[in-house]
Amino acid sequence: MMQGAGMTSVSRRLLGRLRDVMAGSGSAQERLDKVVKLIAVDMVAEVCSCYIMRAGEVLELFSTEGLKKESVHQTRLRVGEGLVGDIAAHARPLALADAQSHPNFVFRPETGEEIFHSLMGVPIIRGSRVVGVVVVQNRTMRHYTDEEIETLETVAMVLAELVVSGELVNRAELVPVDGNALLPLRMEGVKLNGGVGVGVAVLHRPRITIQRLVAEDPDAELERLKKALTGIKLALEELFSRPEMRDGEHRDVLETYRMFAEDKGWLNRINEAIRTGLTAEAAVQKVHDDTRARMSQITDPYLRERMHDFEDLANRLLQHLAGGDDQRPGAADLPDGAILIGRNLGPMELFDYDPKRLRGLVLEEGSATSHVAIVARALDIPVVGRVKDVLDKIEPLDQVICDGDNGQVFIRPPDDIRETYIDAIGQRQLRQAVYARLRELPAVTRQGVRIGIYMNAGLLLDLQHLHDSGADGIGLYRTELPFMARSSLPDVAAQTLLYKKILDQSEGKPVVFRTLDVGGDKVLPYWNPYEEDNPALGWRSIRITLDRPAVMRSQLRALLRAAQGRELSVMFPMIAEVSEFVQAKHILDKELEHERQAGSPMPTKVLVGTMLEVPALALQLDALLPMVDFVSIGSNDLTQFLFAVDRGNPRIAERYDPLAPAMIRFMRYVAVKCNQYKVSLSVCGEMAGRPLEAMTLIGAGIRNLSLSAPNIGPVKTMIRSLDIGALEAYLNTLLKSPDHSLRNKLKTFALDHGVVL
Ligand code: PEP
Ligand code: MG
Repeated sequence: MMQGAGMTSVSRRLLGRLRDVMAGSGSAQERLDKVVKLIAVDMVAEVCSCYIMRAGEVLELFSTEGLKKESVHQTRLRVGEGLVGDIAAHARPLALADAQSHPNFVFRPETGEEIFHSLMGVPIIRGSRVVGVVVVQNRTMRHYTDEEIETLETVAMVLAELVVSGELVNRAELVPVDGNALLPLRMEGVKLNGGVGVGVAVLHRPRITIQRLVAEDPDAELERLKKALTGIKLALEELFSRPEMRDGEHRDVLETYRMFAEDKGWLNRINEAIRTGLTAEAAVQKVHDDTRARMSQITDPYLRERMHDFEDLANRLLQHLAGGDDQRPGAADLPDGAILIGRNLGPMELFDYDPKRLRGLVLEEGSATSHVAIVARALDIPVVGRVKDVLDKIEPLDQVICDGDNGQVFIRPPDDIRETYIDAIGQRQLRQAVYARLRELPAVTRQGVRIGIYMNAGLLLDLQHLHDSGADGIGLYRTELPFMARSSLPDVAAQTLLYKKILDQSEGKPVVFRTLDVGGDKVLPYWNPYEEDNPALGWRSIRITLDRPAVMRSQLRALLRAAQGRELSVMFPMIAEVSEFVQAKHILDKELEHERQAGSPMPTKVLVGTMLEVPALALQLDALLPMVDFVSIGSNDLTQFLFAVDRGNPRIAERYDPLAPAMIRFMRYVAVKCNQYKVSLSVCGEMAGRPLEAMTLIGAGIRNLSLSAPNIGPVKTMIRSLDIGALEAYLNTLLKSPDHSLRNKLKTFALDHGVVL
């Protein structure tokens, strides 16, 4: 305790002196030399050296007190090389009583450092980049304390200002530069939310320049911090009170965020930094920089996302501290039709921008499970993620096309591309208006064959489309999304509440709940992803829930309770063999029995079905069909397994066409079988949502389709123009075809027969 208090005042004194040097006269090099000397004296070290990052990821010795002066500007280490390179590579401090015995130690004779045994160094960080390293050394085998590391880290912050001032090295050397920035560019990323937006770039770089680093009165700074935190909490309260925040998984996401704002460890670190003599904003910045630098080391996607929540908070705190009041960065001058470009965004940051003016979001990072993606989906903003280094290639107000449907971004697109996209958006809006009028009309073919049109959903927010699209019900409710948005497994009560809301909002239209389908690319944050060579073929979906029956039981119990007094449909995913279905059904039966024994009100009826995604199940239909109430073909996974083609691999993803004879024969075979056993059959993969594919499925005997809401209008239009008899007859002639794909022939058929695609 005594030592901590002593250290605080020492570093405060040091900070005061550093401030004087920095504000004083002399060239940047002279000021750096003075700073280095001051540190050495204050920290009772024989050596203090400052290395600065130069072009080509090389750390150059820029100033030293204690090593040979000739080595200045001569000694250079690559990132990763030696202890200094190690500190830079990992963006973390090192404190070694016996530095020379460290495996990474490299000896540089020109420095004369062989006589110094102990070493402590910390990275000089600016933003998320390491821009240098500052090191102290002692002859004795000194054990540096944590407080001393903290002091040096604080000093490194001051040095960072000098390094990035551009006076020591050309600032451009600190930032990786890339080619000609003004040419049109097409960059690829991954689709995080579909849709297309055309607009101008707004860079999300909420960095605030801190004017004052060193504080006179720590108590006043602690008070400022407290006030800023209160400001954030009030802003969150305001957000929670908005009508669009009443329900939905994005509310859960922000609840988690609210918890972070009260995280003790994080706040303590900021408080500690203030006590060492930093201003509140410098303290927030310091903890923020540490977090960002360490984040680059983290590979676990969940932890990375949580770090972003902290980052968002830190930015917000900085804004409050810098501007005092509740600032909404960029909100006031956001151009209409903005495409927001950022490294990553916290879940709350998106609300800083008026969603009505946002046409898209492009991120350098991000994943489908990132909270910002979930929020963007709820706000219907197209998102392309993992666009590498996009921030370095784009200037504010550049023209940008955010093509969320294809996971690509056009920067400064040529006029023809831009116009094509604008046309496509206009056409889409026109069509949406036409489709809206179709809502009340039935999905019947020209001869009056009724096709069941169901909707795929996964967020409570999707439910609003159930009624405005005129769908017959929900053919696939993906229950995993709320599981993915939370930081822990939701309990039975939380799940019951959610499922009940879904059933309430569906107002009596049927809803097929698919049990938890995680694994593969859908990673649950609180389950350590298990390293697998082939995750698509791995421990996923029903395989997980059969191995962890408690999870399945709690979900089924919640579903049964939510459906009291109404009909419930439960569907099991990824069933590969009948015995898996039997096991899953057995768990459901036990839960039914449990509820009955407890005297709980029961659903009026429980329908049980399975997805057909694994081809092996199609060869067991005679055993399966007598046991099930319905089957739904998941064409996304089915395509992948039928053709043995990894959908996530861009090299081969397009190699096989779902309109290949094999796929159509498969569909027809299953349709005939289900018909024979009088079992209801649907298709719920992406195929069902594309008019040409949907037409083909109907030709193959499928009578129910489940698709995402925006596709319902186009598919219904196609159905109402379809002559089913002619199509069936034509398909029969094609099934033995050796063609790679029947796409062109089917398109010609549609054209010749007036089918609207
Ligand atoms: C499918 O595989 O076709 C399907 C509907 O399931 P998901 O896309 O959720 O894997
Ligand atoms: Mg699937």
